[in-house]
Amino acid sequence: MFNKILIANRGEIACRVAATCKRLGIASVAVYSDADANAKHVAACDEAVHIGGSTAAESYLRVERIIEAARATGAQAVHPGYGFLSENEDFAHACEAAGIVFIGPPVAAIAAMGSKAAAKALMHAAAVPLVPGYHGDDQEPQLLHREADAIGYPVLLKASAGGGGKGMRVVERSEDFAAALASCKREAASSFGNDRVLIEKYLTRPRHVEVQVFADRHGGAVYLFDRDCSVQRRHQKVLEEAPAPGLSAEIKREMGEAAVAAARAVNYVGAGTVEFIMTGSGDFYFMEMNTRLQVEHPVTEMVTGQDLVEWQLRVAADEPLPLTQQQLKLDGHAIEARIYAEHPARGFLPSTGTLKHLRMPEGVEFVIDAAGSGAAALGEAGRKAPVRIDSGVREGDTITPFYDPMIAKLIVHGATREEALARLSRALHACEVVGPHTNIEFLQRIVASEPFATADLDTGLIERHHDALFAPLKKPFKEALALACAALLTREGGTAHGASPWDALSLWRLNGGYTQTLGWRAIDDSSNKSGDKSGDKEHGFTVSFARDGATQTLDHDGVREHFSWSNGTGAHEFRATLGDARITGRVFVDGDTFHVFCLGAALAFEWQNLLAHAADAEGGEGRLTAPMPGKVIAVLVEPGAVVEKGTPLLVMEAMKMEHTIGAPAAGTVSEVLYGVGDQVADGAQLLVLDVQ
Ligand code: ADP
Ligand code: ADP
Ligand code: MG
Repeated sequence: MFNKILIANRGEIACRVAATCKRLGIASVAVYSDADANAKHVAACDEAVHIGGSTAAESYLRVERIIEAARATGAQAVHPGYGFLSENEDFAHACEAAGIVFIGPPVAAIAAMGSKAAAKALMHAAAVPLVPGYHGDDQEPQLLHREADAIGYPVLLKASAGGGGKGMRVVERSEDFAAALASCKREAASSFGNDRVLIEKYLTRPRHVEVQVFADRHGGAVYLFDRDCSVQRRHQKVLEEAPAPGLSAEIKREMGEAAVAAARAVNYVGAGTVEFIMTGSGDFYFMEMNTRLQVEHPVTEMVTGQDLVEWQLRVAADEPLPLTQQQLKLDGHAIEARIYAEHPARGFLPSTGTLKHLRMPEGVEFVIDAAGSGAAALGEAGRKAPVRIDSGVREGDTITPFYDPMIAKLIVHGATREEALARLSRALHACEVVGPHTNIEFLQRIVASEPFATADLDTGLIERHHDALFAPLKKPFKEALALACAALLTREGGTAHGASPWDALSLWRLNGGYTQTLGWRAIDDSSNKSGDKSGDKEHGFTVSFARDGATQTLDHDGVREHFSWSNGTGAHEFRATLGDARITGRVFVDGDTFHVFCLGAALAFEWQNLLAHAADAEGGEGRLTAPMPGKVIAVLVEPGAVVEKGTPLLVMEAMKMEHTIGAPAAGTVSEVLYGVGDQVADGAQLLVLDVQ
């Protein structure tokens, strides 16, 4: 076994590989770009080498620089992770030439599978079933068009060198073929530097089912069962599970054996995945082979109790496979959800930004207790705490535009699919992210959807259920607002503007008590247009304090309820009582934006801090304008009044909520431009203040 390896990757997969190294007592070397100087994967390794600028081309794709780093640190082997150089035959070759072990298949196997077209030709020879299609060398457009016509529409055009769902085009009609071919070739050339295409019959409502294979240098080859990865957006996986549900033992064995045959056909060594596309009637066809560890490998680890990175390291060190096919056993069901910084309602566009608040459900980060004996320990850990989180970021880290915007993989295990599903749902509801947009709510909705819950899986699931998955959600606004008020009032020491209601600046007398209106604007993330605030809603919550200062009521939508609140036990935790309802939740405050996590929902509200807004807007100039259109309901000063900064001057009402306009600075009121009952426009000047 190796003493030291270099991990030529970043993010969660680099952390994942480092964890196994740690457990096996192998020293690990990280490489990092400028943007990743303080990244989690750097901290996860024993040593780290800076390899260049922030873009992948300037760092993680630099073959020579990475080899040099391996040499300089005395690493005996390189683990490439996935993406980046993992399926790059030049890199594998360069490692070999430098006398460093590439932890992956032989160069020839990468080359054989690197072209989807050439791989299909090989698979045909090995009698592995293929989707009807054309994968020939002749790329003459007329010929391709004739082939497509012969296959019958719809057809799918794929970049032969493609990956990550890029360059694929569905062509519905012969008339559209020429244009689709041109655009597929353009994208293929720019993404992969190779414009060769292949054509496949486009299957309707297929499933994506893949098989994990492993082979060693001693003639051993096994399959570690199957995974279903049908839930995809833009041909990219979102949810993955093992084993693939609803398949007969016979089909599973046939697929497993076909996958092993595929691996043997290219003299495969190490971890690989053979991807099949499957029709509703259970026919399956070879799609491609990924010659690396897969993003979704943890679901296989959870149901087999094996550590696949350990298997990779042992095989790379010339050891035989740890187990035979007969020794491999399936236990229960596992599901992985990929949590991305992205905006589902805006076509799943990536989102960037600092993770101001990050809380993942209780689970094992990929750490296996040192006492555990090898791979089995993972299974033990998995069974004891059947939620696993593989993440490459921590709170405070930034999702940059340079790399894949994945925040974490959430993996759950259960005795049955139902148990795993229930656990996944609970775990997703415990995730809290403030900063970039995320797909967490979207994942919750898929997991709760009828087709996913009943395992009615196919690759069109998201698209077909688009309307239901994106319909506006009914959220616990009232309860979340009560918690937001609790957090605000706690922060402000009893009232939103002062230490006690009696000193508070924006309070005004009502029926012998004091009331304060806390204005909130609900921030609605589900809008599909950037900058569109049409979903945002104004909410007014009026907190009334009785003369004793102790009892409060909260008015909302014309309903008055008894209100009390307290801090919970943990950080960010609050409890509120609203009428008969007790609400517990967590509030993360970011400036004037309050992120509330309660009753399994995430809501955000912006506090309409009118005093601050008035002061900001006026910049001490002494002009006071209406923050929204509304009616003047009280004028609290007369011309000539000498006021302090913050003295309430006038109260407006809009949408049943009151806003108190305070003095932005000390001065003398010289004019009052409106009286009680007047309707004022947004931005209208209300008073003139001569600032001292
Ligand atoms: P999987 O089937 O495991 O999801 P993909 O082919 O979709 O595999 O990609 C695996 C990972 O590698 C993804 O996280 C993706 O962002 C990344 N990736 C894919 N293609 C590239 C590429 N050309 N360069 C860098 N990263 C890539
Ligand atoms: P990539 O290299 O981008 O992963 P794949 O060939 O594995 O490309 O295909 C990615 C996805 O596209 C599959 O998981 C499946 O959802 C869809 N797909 C691929 N081939 C077909 C096909 N012939 N018919 C229908 N869908 C397909
Ligand atoms: Mg694929």
